[in-house]
Amino acid sequence: MATTAVVVGASITGLAAARALADSFDQVLVADRDVLPGDAEPRRGVPQGHHGHVLLGAGQRALAELFPGLLDELVAAGAVPFDPSLDMIVHRRVEWTRPPSGLRLVSFSRPLLEHTLRTRVAALPNVTIRSATAVSALTGDASRVTGVMIDGMPHPADLVVDCTGRGSRSDGWLRDLGCPTPAVTEVTVDVGYASRLLRRTESDLPGAKAVFVLPAAPQETRLGVVLPIEGGRWIASLGGWFGDFPTDADGFTEHAGLLPNPHVAGLLSRAEPITDVHVHRLPSNRRRHFEKLDRVPAGFVALGDAVCSFNPVYGQGMTIGVLEAAELGRRTRTGTDLDVPAFYGWLADLLKVPWRFAAGADFAWPQTKGARPDGNALIRRYTRRVQRTVAYDPVVRQVFTAVQHMLLPPTALFAPRIVLRVLRVRR
Ligand SMILES: Cc1cc2nc3c(=O)[nH]c(=O)nc-3n(C[C@H](O)[C@H](O)[C@H](O)COP(=O)(O)OP(=O)(O)OC[C@H]3O[C@@H](n4cnc5c(N)ncnc54)[C@H](O)[C@@H]3O)c2cc1C
Repeated sequence: MATTAVVVGASITGLAAARALADSFDQVLVADRDVLPGDAEPRRGVPQGHHGHVLLGAGQRALAELFPGLLDELVAAGAVPFDPSLDMIVHRRVEWTRPPSGLRLVSFSRPLLEHTLRTRVAALPNVTIRSATAVSALTGDASRVTGVMIDGMPHPADLVVDCTGRGSRSDGWLRDLGCPTPAVTEVTVDVGYASRLLRRTESDLPGAKAVFVLPAAPQETRLGVVLPIEGGRWIASLGGWFGDFPTDADGFTEHAGLLPNPHVAGLLSRAEPITDVHVHRLPSNRRRHFEKLDRVPAGFVALGDAVCSFNPVYGQGMTIGVLEAAELGRRTRTGTDLDVPAFYGWLADLLKVPWRFAAGADFAWPQTKGARPDGNALIRRYTRRVQRTVAYDPVVRQVFTAVQHMLLPPTALFAPRIVLRVLRVRR
């Protein structure tokens, strides 16, 4: 019998999942409720597409394995290669020195990444992408999901993958089948971003390709990031915690002027804006604990933001979605009947570090509300020292950058040669 997977949501996680599942299933249907654009345009279902996105090193590597030649294709479309240490001005408390990291990342707009992936997935012979196609329910019963409902019609599937993002309705879908729904953990931060595009010339930011100004908690709450993207443009995103972000063009300029480093405001004063300011709010880090359910139906999994949506400042969301999609592909290659509880167990392990990184770091502000991730005070003190050391120590910076990009485990920061350098730092 031919096997079928239905992927709900054709954004980054859904497209990566479709590519990964195309090696395991005879047919893959990807359904998205949006009218999917023919080119690299922001769209309604992905409002964050108006804002600056960095794909971490681990995500870039995983995507390049799923889509060979992807990075060259992005660069050919105008994306900009950069070293996140050498080419990026970073400021937190002080402006960091810029030793080479050895990492080559590529900077692009979020719509360009999605458009390039969508084109590649649409070209796969056993995958169909259906635009303007909302999934409204699951079919099956509490023991097995057997498909989805589209326009009042059942579509049978051996596996249904929920990639509908933070706003996922799959709790309701599961409840309708008599299934339990996952507990939710929320860490509230009321983060907001305002972003606009500008025309780019090299003289806008002499000697660097990007700039990232981060707040020193708990005194500061504002951030600013400017990245080069295709089409000879900059994307400038200004944001902040606890409502401290701009909401219009005047506020945008004012916010840049209040950052503790002059480069963002300097760039904005030189480059010509070519779009309005778009605003996006994200109230919390939010996680659904499928791994804690004592029974889950076979034939259904959730991935990406539908499971865990992070404070975006740590740039982890797309990478996590892609890593999950790649693992789903590996786990279905030898048999399409996925062991769902085992997959959720793996996923919970994957999320441990990034959750601690995002939700844990947010607790540096006393206004943050919710359940603080585990972690002892000694490690938190050490991590604060690491953050001071990276500002000027090239060896610690290189390891820190690899950890931040999920290319090394956090234990790499506890290697004796790193600990010695970190403990030597004076305030
Ligand atoms: C301001 C901001 C900045 C960010 N910056 C970064 C960054 O620098 N790096 C990074 O890695 N991440 C960043 N993120 C996070 C990143 O955008 C998300 O983690 C990522 O988009 C998650 O992808 P996804 O495919 O899981 O879900 P989404 O991108 O949210 O996509 C969900 C898809 O499901 C579709 N859909 C929804 N309901 C249905 C339905 N019923 N039927 C069919 N289709 C449906 C939607 O149309 C959409 O296409 C940022 C987020 C924000 C808000």
